[in-house]
Amino acid sequence: MDHFLYRDGVLHAEDVPLPEIAAAVGTPFYLYSTATLTRHFRLFDEGLAGLDHLVCYAMKANSNQAVLKVLAEAGAGMDVVSGGEYLRAKAAGVPGEKIVFSGVGKTREEMALAIQGGIRQFNLESEPEMLLLSEVATSLGATVPVTIRVNPDVDAKTHAKIATGKSENKFGIPISRAREVYAQAAALPGLEVIGIDCHIGSQLTDLTPFAEAFDLVVSLTEALRADGHDIRRLDLGGGLGIPYERSNEAPPLPIEFCNLIKEKVGHLDVEVEIEPGRLIAGNAGLLVSKVIFVKEGEDRQFLILDAAMNDLIRPAMYDSYHEVIPVIEPAPGAEPATYDIVGPVCESGDTFAKRRAMAKVGAGDLVAFRSAGAYGAVMSSEYNSRPMVPEVLVHEHQFAVIRPRPTFDEMINRDIIPEWM
Ligand SMILES: *Cc1c(COP(=O)(O)O)cnc(C)c1O
Repeated sequence: MDHFLYRDGVLHAEDVPLPEIAAAVGTPFYLYSTATLTRHFRLFDEGLAGLDHLVCYAMKANSNQAVLKVLAEAGAGMDVVSGGEYLRAKAAGVPGEKIVFSGVGKTREEMALAIQGGIRQFNLESEPEMLLLSEVATSLGATVPVTIRVNPDVDAKTHAKIATGKSENKFGIPISRAREVYAQAAALPGLEVIGIDCHIGSQLTDLTPFAEAFDLVVSLTEALRADGHDIRRLDLGGGLGIPYERSNEAPPLPIEFCNLIKEKVGHLDVEVEIEPGRLIAGNAGLLVSKVIFVKEGEDRQFLILDAAMNDLIRPAMYDSYHEVIPVIEPAPGAEPATYDIVGPVCESGDTFAKRRAMAKVGAGDLVAFRSAGAYGAVMSSEYNSRPMVPEVLVHEHQFAVIRPRPTFDEMINRDIIPEWM
C-alpha cells in the first residue's frame, strides 16, 4: 500500500493534490511520501520484532537528505557504499554506530573517513581489502568490527545487471573459501571479526533464493564458531522485490521475508541486520511528468513526455516496467489508448514503455510514473543538458522541494573555461 490515491478524481500524494505541486515546482519532478517511507521501514522493523535487529536502509536507492532524515528518525540504520554516502548519512543525523559500510572497492581514504567518524562495521569483500583495512585501522590506532561478505553462488533469478550472488559476480568471497579467509582476517591486527554478510541481488520476487542463501549462512555460522570465531552478527542483505506491474503476481511481503529470517536464524543467538533499499523507497515515490505531444507514427501513437531517460534510466538500463497513470482520474468507461511512451532525448533507448495500454491523455496533461522512488533520482543525470530533475517530499497536507531544479545558468556555469582560452 502507498499513499498515492485518487481523491475526487485527482491523484493525491497523502493530502496534497498533484496539480498543485506541479504548478509550484514545474515538471518533471520526483515526489515522495513521508507516510509511505515510514510505513515500509516499519514493516521490516516490526517484522523482525523479537530478534535483536537493526534495519539498515540501503541508501543508494534514494539518498536525499530529507528521505534519510525521515528514516533515521523512524530508527533506521544506514547501509552505505561510498565515502559520499557515509557523509550523507552522518549529515542526516545518523550516528556512526548505525552505519554499515558495504561495497567491493572501498579506498584507503573512505576507510579512514569512516573509522574516524565512527562505524558500526565494515562488510569486507576480498583479501586485499582486508589487508588494506587492517593497515588503515592500525595506523589510526583503531580496531574495527568487520564481517566478510560471502558469495553463496545461488541464483537470485533477477535481472542480470542486479544479481550479485552468483560466482561470476564481482561481489564477496566464495563461500567455499570462507573458513580460510576468516582465519586470515582473525589474525590481522586492527580487525575484529564479528559476523557474516550476504546480499544476493535486487528485485527478488521469490523467497527461495533467500532461503537457500540463509541456510548456507547458518551452516557457515556453525562452522566458523567451531573454528573459534565469535560470530554474533549476521547481515542478511536487502533485495526484496516490489510490485512494479500490479497485474502480475505480487512478490513476497516484508513480513514473509522477516518470518523466513526468524525461522532460519532465530535459534543462533545472533544480532540480525538487513539492508532493504528498493522496498522502502520504491513505491514511496512517483515521477510526475507532462505530456508535450501526442505524435501519430506510422503504426503507433507516441506519447512524448517532458521526462526522459536522464531523469529515470531504469527502463533503458534494466528493461524495467513502470506503471504510468494520468493525474486526472479517467472517467469510468473512458476511451483507452495504446502508446509508445517516450522522452525528448535523442536516443531510441529513451523509451519508457512500448505498446502500453492506458487511459487516453492529451498534450498538457500530467502523468505519474509509479514505483519511481528507488534508483530513480539517484541515477539521474543532465544528459542532453536537461537540468537535474527536482525532488519534492509530501507530509500530510504539506509539501517541500527537497532538491531544487538548477537554473540553466547554474547548470552551464558549473563548467569552467580554462584560463588559456
Ligand atoms: C543495493 C544493495 C542493497 C539494497 O538492495 P535493494 O534491492 O534495494 O533492497 C543492500 N545491500 C547491498 C550491499 C547493496 O549493494
